[in-house]
Amino acid sequence: MFDVIRIPAFKDNYIWLLRGGASAIVVDPGDARPVLDVLERGALSLAAVLITHHHADHQGGIDDLLARFPAQVFGSAAESITGITTPLHGGETIRIAAPDAEFRVIPVPGHTRGHLAYYGAGCLFCGDTLFGAGCGRLFEGSAAQMSGSLARLAALPDDTAVYCAHEYTEANLRFALAVEPGNQRLQDRVRDVSAARAKGLPTIPSTLALEKATNPFLRCAEAEVIAAARGRKADVKNAAEVFAVLREWRNGF
Ligand code: ZN
Ligand code: FE
Repeated sequence: MFDVIRIPAFKDNYIWLLRGGASAIVVDPGDARPVLDVLERGALSLAAVLITHHHADHQGGIDDLLARFPAQVFGSAAESITGITTPLHGGETIRIAAPDAEFRVIPVPGHTRGHLAYYGAGCLFCGDTLFGAGCGRLFEGSAAQMSGSLARLAALPDDTAVYCAHEYTEANLRFALAVEPGNQRLQDRVRDVSAARAKGLPTIPSTLALEKATNPFLRCAEAEVIAAARGRKADVKNAAEVFAVLREWRNGF
């Protein structure tokens, strides 16, 4: 078991540190300094690093962490990950001894070609795939791939805690409201999130139930979302095409 500690980095990244006893796992350490501060303050030793994808704001701190700790580094075999010791393809279950943790590795291509998500102990670490009320940009994958990846995540239990890698929720909600102005749960979330952000509080983790109720990218089969997509492109036929229209619309929003 582990506690999840939030480590803010750069402008709006979250690095997640999982602490159990005197050991830790870190997810997407884009910057080593704030991670080393937490490890030192807690007298923790770093056992493992989980990387969701190759972008520098997710893996830039690996070298400096490995200089201090002989940690195992998990990441996609399809991407260039610094110091990787356990290349993954998605579909595996990985086990870490201390802190005692087991994760399902879920392939979620779209933002990048080899993007992975890690699911364990009711927590989902999904990098730049699923965000609070949004999803990642398509840098290396297609809309069809990303919509399949999001469907894989949406199939997890409703009470899954969603730990994404950026605090983007407030801006994402402005777009969500343009798509689905009549969604009451969405309106409630907009109110809750602006109150939290006005106090400088984080909006992550969210839950999968909340994302399924308010995140337009998980709602491509809902009537209001389909209608909004048809307003942009008249001939959309299925949920994957609705997703493609929303993603494109969001890029210019
Ligand atoms: Zn990224
Ligand atoms: Fe990122």
